[in-house]
Amino acid sequence: MTVNKTSPESIRQTKAVMEEIRRITTRPWNIMEICGGQTHSIMEYGLDQLLPEEINLIHGPGCPVCVTSLELIERALQIAAVPGVIFTSFGDMLRVPGSSSDLFGARARGADVRLVYSPLDAVKLAQENPDKQVVFFAVGFETTVPAIAASLLHTEKLGLKNFSILPANVLVPPAMHAILQSPDNRVNAFLAAGHVCAIMGYWQYEPIAEKYQTPMVVTGFDPLDLAIGILMNIRQLEEGRYEVENAYPRYVTRAGNLTAQGMINQVFKPVDRQWRGIGTIPLSGLGLKEAYSHFDAGTRFDIQLAQLQESPLCIAGSVLRGVAKPINCYAFGTLCTPSNPLGAPMVSAEGACSAYYRYHKVN
Ligand code: SF4
Repeated sequence: MTVNKTSPESIRQTKAVMEEIRRITTRPWNIMEICGGQTHSIMEYGLDQLLPEEINLIHGPGCPVCVTSLELIERALQIAAVPGVIFTSFGDMLRVPGSSSDLFGARARGADVRLVYSPLDAVKLAQENPDKQVVFFAVGFETTVPAIAASLLHTEKLGLKNFSILPANVLVPPAMHAILQSPDNRVNAFLAAGHVCAIMGYWQYEPIAEKYQTPMVVTGFDPLDLAIGILMNIRQLEEGRYEVENAYPRYVTRAGNLTAQGMINQVFKPVDRQWRGIGTIPLSGLGLKEAYSHFDAGTRFDIQLAQLQESPLCIAGSVLRGVAKPINCYAFGTLCTPSNPLGAPMVSAEGACSAYYRYHKVN
């Protein structure tokens, strides 16, 4: 049975889990929540304030908008500026600053940039506008990929020649490898994102847990889910175990959604991808397989990129690697706010900086 996340019963159960965490914790542990949605939930419900001081929650790179590289954003801006193009994207992406502008800025300068809620909305636009080229900015972790793959298979079936995507999807397991291999890594355990695992399962995490001797718990997004995920990780750490455990069995199985995985594997293949503020992570992105490469807007449009410049004040790379917290940033809350963001983590609904700003976190 699912308990309402703010019901008295849920609050009682969450408090009981927190008490158990206090009881079993004997030393300091750093636990990273991979997903930005989990970061927001932790901040919103003040879970980090309820934990014993030995437990430090580190916010991971699981904000797809935040890690989309400057190069891809500039590419998007240039494609959007091509006459006859309708450039479509999920809402968060429109406000992410590139080197000199964002997609909203491009729209103000006359580009036809539109917010869509699904890639199939963009395919519909292509059907309705046969004289235009419709491009979808394919951003997101594994969760968004099945719908993007389905949109391409649907486009193929329709025989549409005026729809393409700018591939920017990223994958969680290679990012975990990169974090755990980093010389400044301080992560002792992971909360794995329940929605990603609902698609991909969690079998891919088992060799990572084994290799780096790092426990992982597949966790949901409600306060009680998160508290249980943290407790299960601490139990493993205190007992010297490093397994992948599933605290979200109402949605996640070890194998995941095989139909969705089949669609992904039909259309996409792993490619090296640059993560904003982090650098290139091998095989951490999805590119189109040869049979679907004609849908790649990156090659359909001839784009020349100039020298790209990040804001020198923004430490988003350190925030995304869990090495710094937003409040360690000089610009946080002063020069950088949601209405005047210097970096993507202050824009996105999943960004750690926007979570700290929204929920007034000051320490
Ligand atoms: S507060 Fe703003 S400038 Fe600082 S790291 Fe976050 S997004 Fe970048």
